[in-house]
Amino acid sequence: MSEKWYNETLFENYGQRFKIDNVLFENQTTHQHLVIFENSQFGRVMALDGVIQTTTRDECIYHEMMVHVPVLAHGKAKRVLIIGGGDGGILREVLKHKSVEHVTMIEIDAAVVEMSKQFLPSISNGAFEDPRLNLVIADGMDFVRDCKEKFDVIITDSTDPIGPGEILFTDDFYSAAKRCLNEGGIVASQNGASFLQEWEFEGTYRRLSSLYKSPWFYLAGVPTYVGGFMTLAWATDNEAYRKLPVETIRARFNANPFQTKYYNPEIHVSAFNLPQHVLDKLANINVTTSAVA
Ligand code: SAM
Repeated sequence: MSEKWYNETLFENYGQRFKIDNVLFENQTTHQHLVIFENSQFGRVMALDGVIQTTTRDECIYHEMMVHVPVLAHGKAKRVLIIGGGDGGILREVLKHKSVEHVTMIEIDAAVVEMSKQFLPSISNGAFEDPRLNLVIADGMDFVRDCKEKFDVIITDSTDPIGPGEILFTDDFYSAAKRCLNEGGIVASQNGASFLQEWEFEGTYRRLSSLYKSPWFYLAGVPTYVGGFMTLAWATDNEAYRKLPVETIRARFNANPFQTKYYNPEIHVSAFNLPQHVLDKLANINVTTSAVA
């Protein structure tokens, strides 16, 4: 039988491919093309509209870094908002924090949640049953636009700025999300790999700079997110958050201990150190700094 391969189409002129050992689910949902398949190197793999979303082998890296860096930097996050994250990995990690009393999760595609529960159960690991969760199937943009609630940490775990994810990289979304953030809150979002998607982090930096006093990025190396380090977007009005000493992060982590596979306090504090090519780009971006007091 001829071998079947899944070719990622994130970039027109470059890409990775996965040998498909077994297709578990494939369908055009109401919003995107969803496929989940088995691969001997990365376990179970989910892709949306031709772009790898998560794999059971390396999902821990991204989900731990997207959650524990903002939540432990904040130090007393009670209310968390997740935009996207349909596989449940972000939700799973957020719920490990005892300080978190409530999580609202806004996912546009119910099929991603349902198929992740069925075919990728290790990623959500029962998180969808947690009583602290309010799961809303809706467009994240609509939610933040109309939102009357406030949150301490907002994590946008979206697809790339194509299809339904595109709106989550706009001025409208970032400014509406800021209105949903409590005083002293932190936002973090998926923002591509800076080495190949420079335009993405440049645009994000420009947008966040007009809203927050301390926009920045932090790094995570995720094998199946091609292009080098993922440059996760970060923004808050409290610059001190990203400069907390490792002893502070270690004390907070030890006060609420849980198993991780990638995250630790040393990686947390070092993640904010950016490559020179990123620093040079950021230095040359004309930003209208936040007038927000
Ligand atoms: N970790 C992955 C990454 O870094 O690319 C993202 C994984 S997660 C599966 C992405 C989720 O964002 C998907 O479930 C998708 O349905 C959701 N999504 C895309 N656009 C959205 C929108 N406008 N509102 C809410 N969820 C959205």
